[in-house]
Amino acid sequence: MTGVTAVPHHLRLTQSRMPAYARDNLASLPQRSCRSQHTLGRSVACHGVGFVTGAQVELTLHPAAPGFGLAFQRLDCPGTPPVPATRDSVLPRQRRTAIGQNGVVIELVEHVLAALAGLQVDNCLVTLDAPEPPGFDGSCRPVVEAILEAGRVAQDAPRPCLIINRVLSVGLPGKQLTLRPLARPGLAISYHLDYGPHSPIRPQNRTFLADPADFATSIAGCRTFVLDSEVEALKNQGLGQGLTHQDLLVFGHDGPIDNHLLYPDECARHKILDCIGDFALLGADLWGHIDACCSGHTDNHDATAAVLQHCHLAPVVAHAA
Ligand SMILES: [Zn+2]
Repeated sequence: MTGVTAVPHHLRLTQSRMPAYARDNLASLPQRSCRSQHTLGRSVACHGVGFVTGAQVELTLHPAAPGFGLAFQRLDCPGTPPVPATRDSVLPRQRRTAIGQNGVVIELVEHVLAALAGLQVDNCLVTLDAPEPPGFDGSCRPVVEAILEAGRVAQDAPRPCLIINRVLSVGLPGKQLTLRPLARPGLAISYHLDYGPHSPIRPQNRTFLADPADFATSIAGCRTFVLDSEVEALKNQGLGQGLTHQDLLVFGHDGPIDNHLLYPDECARHKILDCIGDFALLGADLWGHIDACCSGHTDNHDATAAVLQHCHLAPVVAHAA
């Protein structure tokens, strides 16, 4: 199906309130329009080691019907139903996203969600035989490759779109996330990272327009990162036992230890990957500008709650694949 969705009358680009880096990057981005829902062409599996358990995990992505959304099912908990990847399923965690329902918990879902949402796969049942997906190298590239191998199939149903029609902010000054209207359909994400002059992670900015091809090439391979000084505390939380410096980016005084950056701003790009995964919990596309400054998963979860409370579904007239 093809068609055009009118930009609602009340949308206005709040350029004057944008930081210069976001304004400059947005100026050159192309327009996007509403689209149909998509699923996978067939089931596809990937394997790897879980960051929390250190155990081998098999994760399989299955096609699902229009309106199903994204959900995770633990095959190691026989008889339990899939847990929908929605805002209502989010459990309180530090530095990661976990979902659960009726005692069935799946940790660290954000990178799998990012791969699905980044490639605009809207309906998918994710099965796994462990409490967490494989961690891979701290990126979602293997899941993206699996999705591309299975193929993406258009479905005869429009993808709902939530419109950011007012400025919404969460977090605190210096660590906050602001959502702003955008004058055209589409989602732009800006991430500003600045951990101060003494951090081995240099200040960096990146703006990304939601687009499957750009996501696959410029965001999906960007890896999660920690400071060497934080590793002990994370291990005390049960995270990262047995991980090496090749399993994610560990920053010492002089940069990544026994590893190298794919891009000078790989950390900002990974934060955008995290945003894409966490905002997938909306179950709808988002039209607007996410402007994030040193924010994390909790801010993303608070922002999705604010969107669901304050924003409206777009009046979809027609849709395009
Ligand atoms: Zn992440």
